[in-house]
Amino acid sequence: MVSSVPVYNKNQKRINVRRPEIMDEVKEEVVIHYRSPLVEHIRANGSKYAFGNTSVRLAKEFGFCYGVERAIDLAYAARRYFPIQEPVYILGEIIHNAHVNEQIRDMGVTFLSGQYKGADVTDLKEGDAVVIPAFGTEVDIREELIQKGCTIIDATCGDVMSVWRRVRQNARHNVTSVIHGKAWHEETMATSSQATSKGGHYLVVFNLEETDYLCQFIVNGGDRDEFLNKFDGAYSDGFDPDIHLKAIGVANQTTMMRGETEEVQRRIRQAMIKRFGKEKLEDHFRFFDTICGATQDRQDALRDLLNREMDLLLVVGGYNSSNTAHLAELGEQKIPTYFIKDAEELVSAEILNHFLQEKHQMSSTKNWLNIEGELVFGVTAGASCPNNLIEQVILRVFELRGESTETLLESIQA
Ligand code: SF4
Repeated sequence: MVSSVPVYNKNQKRINVRRPEIMDEVKEEVVIHYRSPLVEHIRANGSKYAFGNTSVRLAKEFGFCYGVERAIDLAYAARRYFPIQEPVYILGEIIHNAHVNEQIRDMGVTFLSGQYKGADVTDLKEGDAVVIPAFGTEVDIREELIQKGCTIIDATCGDVMSVWRRVRQNARHNVTSVIHGKAWHEETMATSSQATSKGGHYLVVFNLEETDYLCQFIVNGGDRDEFLNKFDGAYSDGFDPDIHLKAIGVANQTTMMRGETEEVQRRIRQAMIKRFGKEKLEDHFRFFDTICGATQDRQDALRDLLNREMDLLLVVGGYNSSNTAHLAELGEQKIPTYFIKDAEELVSAEILNHFLQEKHQMSSTKNWLNIEGELVFGVTAGASCPNNLIEQVILRVFELRGESTETLLESIQA
């Protein structure tokens, strides 16, 4: 399956795995694993496709983003660069998509955490190759890899690193970073570690309810212990709300909903004006928009799609994928929307299994496809979802509508 390329030198700490002779093979392999002729056909024909009395509409932007493509390329290239008898490790999920992670594991890359874990960081030896996923990693973990003399293949997305720069800058200026994100998400953990690595502090706020609580505290003060209890696990060691909320820089996880992030910063800005006065705002507040372009494009494209007549929307992606979750949230505000990881969730025309975000659990909806006559369904997918999974979902809907998927696929080749 994997060829050995004779360029390997175990003593090299800095390597370029994306060598042209490797990348040609990697590109080919990635196309085989994740390509979809049907999705390409629909995209090339106005993002809509009708067969029988069923039509599908695709968002203009969906699926793999540049950061994810680069991370997958790097993991594939790393496995090809090193001889197959040499281990290649990855710190955790390369991206939030089970199919992609399983593919990488099956190629012979060993996971160091999570459900695919095959080894521990403590097992690493000098010269071992370790891939850092697209979300990046915490400063301490990177340091540990360097200390051990590992060869690092860094797939951290450039957009994530831009947030890190802002957060480090805040720390250097004694400004506490308030990060709009999910404290338990790999990217936000990596981002917050950038603050502490420079001796700074951070606080992670998840939603507007937490933002309002924070704003109340900024303006009126409050019970310190209650504050720390409420944000348990979401602030830096030694963070004290009575001391460290006098200068704030708002940053965000790159995949949050833009509207919500803007509202978070607007509310905190207002609170700082109330507390310190408008004329002193610059000394106490700063904000940088760090929503990534790919997340923004996918949210905009879905808003556009939702302006069209559709009976339902399928949002395809991993249930732990932040950007996919926000797409599902957008859809739910307008039409029946189902967040599914793959075609397997479309059990029958009567039963569909899908993820309920507010309850953080699976649910079953009955008679979801019980529509007589014409049906129009929309499809979008998160930045970590490959096209082949999207194709399987589309084909499954046509199949459940009684259409022959074989004839359908023949029709796009005609
Ligand atoms: S979603 Fe954005 S930040 Fe995340 S990998 Fe893709 S481009 Fe980078």
